[in-house]
Amino acid sequence: MKMQVTEIAKAVQASNAEQAWPDVNVTGVAFDSRKLQAGDLFVPLAGEHDGHQFIQSAIDHGAVATLWADDHAESAPSDLPVIMVADTLKALQALGKYYLQKINPKVVAVTGSNGKTTTKDMIASLLSTQFNVTKTHANFNNQIGVPITLLSMEPNTEVVVVEMGMDHFGELDFLSRLVEPDIAVITMIGEAHIEFFGTRDKIADAKMEIVHGLKADGTFIYNGDEPLLRERAEKVSQRQRTFGMTDDDTLTGSEVTTSRAQTQFKASLWPEEAYTIPMMGAYNVNNALAALLVADTFHVRSTPARTALASFVPTENRTEWLTGAQGEAILSDVYNSNPTAARRVLAAFAAVPTKGHRIVVLGDMLELGEQSDTLHVSLASELHPETIQSVYLNGQHMQALATALQSQYPADAIHYYPTDQQEQLITDLRAEVQADDQVLLKGSHGIHLENVLQALQAND
Ligand code: ATP
Ligand code: MG
Repeated sequence: MKMQVTEIAKAVQASNAEQAWPDVNVTGVAFDSRKLQAGDLFVPLAGEHDGHQFIQSAIDHGAVATLWADDHAESAPSDLPVIMVADTLKALQALGKYYLQKINPKVVAVTGSNGKTTTKDMIASLLSTQFNVTKTHANFNNQIGVPITLLSMEPNTEVVVVEMGMDHFGELDFLSRLVEPDIAVITMIGEAHIEFFGTRDKIADAKMEIVHGLKADGTFIYNGDEPLLRERAEKVSQRQRTFGMTDDDTLTGSEVTTSRAQTQFKASLWPEEAYTIPMMGAYNVNNALAALLVADTFHVRSTPARTALASFVPTENRTEWLTGAQGEAILSDVYNSNPTAARRVLAAFAAVPTKGHRIVVLGDMLELGEQSDTLHVSLASELHPETIQSVYLNGQHMQALATALQSQYPADAIHYYPTDQQEQLITDLRAEVQADDQVLLKGSHGIHLENVLQALQAND
């Protein structure tokens, strides 16, 4: 980006906006002084540490100006232009909005319980075949990340694809009104953050806030197979298009096949040839359909879209195939787990052909509140002895699933270990795994299944 300090001071309604500003060009924005690049505006935010205390480091990294909170006036630096504001976060957001209006690209906003980052990245690759696209960097999807995304746009940006996350009511309302999307996308409704929301209905209500800022001539694109969204969409006056696996959808996927490396499917609007995603998992068909529908709304042609999808490179693929010390294939997803994502990954894992046994290691899914036991037990619907021969469970919440599985598995195929007995799990698992087997590891970060992964890969 490129802005003058005078312009920034006006855009954020600085309390000292009227002063005479030097001719200084700002070429970027950073709130982490360690990541600041020469030419950036420093934005000190209140967090665990108050950002104002890192001004010297920001200057050392090449900050050319800084925002500064009025109530920190006494500690304002004197060696660079200081733009005084009541609230630095609000000023960052106002600056993002100002810059968005100045560049004036089309805006695509993406939310959903799972699949936001994947879908955002897919949309950006499909649209890049015809437009200059800026997208959310990595997973930077909150009230800080969204304005930072806007401020990262090159002046020639034609479309900006913005990932939006939330864990409370009101967050998407704010973010949607900030960016005023031309297209708002909801990938799906799951159970993430149910501890706070209580029900999936409420999660759906909160996700629907993404349409609050949708332009009057904008398009709402959502998963049409989710009744909670269909119901709520009736109240949305803007154009609507749905994706999913049923004939009622605008874009219907079918004939899904999956292997370790890729997933194929057919899409109803362009039925001639199958589409390929270079990632495992039928759930990624959902994400790809959402992205294809966005691309179609921008009139991207189907041939370049097909090619772009086939060569799509996810920025953050949390499920990765690795090889263990016995030669076994390991599908590792050890940093994150919630019931919907875990069920989808189990289904995807069970569909991948293998010569040996399929073994799953599931760790507790944390932060599920009162419904924790029920939600852990819900994984039983994706566990069948014909496709997944052996189940290792780790953590206190997994006990409920271990009990539930007794009726569908032989006793010696279910292995349960409390949180503090992971060592024993590792020993037993290593004794079982053979070269042709396929092993899935999935659990919340707090359960540390990365230890199990390490042990499987160790050559001792
Ligand atoms: P976060 O809330 O952490 O930003 P996200 O919504 O951006 O997550 P991704 O990073 O795209 O989601 O995917 C994370 C995991 O969610 C995947 O590894 C997969 O297990 C699962 N997942 C992805 N897409 C879907 C989907 N459409 N439905 C269900 N699960 C999915
Ligand atoms: Mg994400």
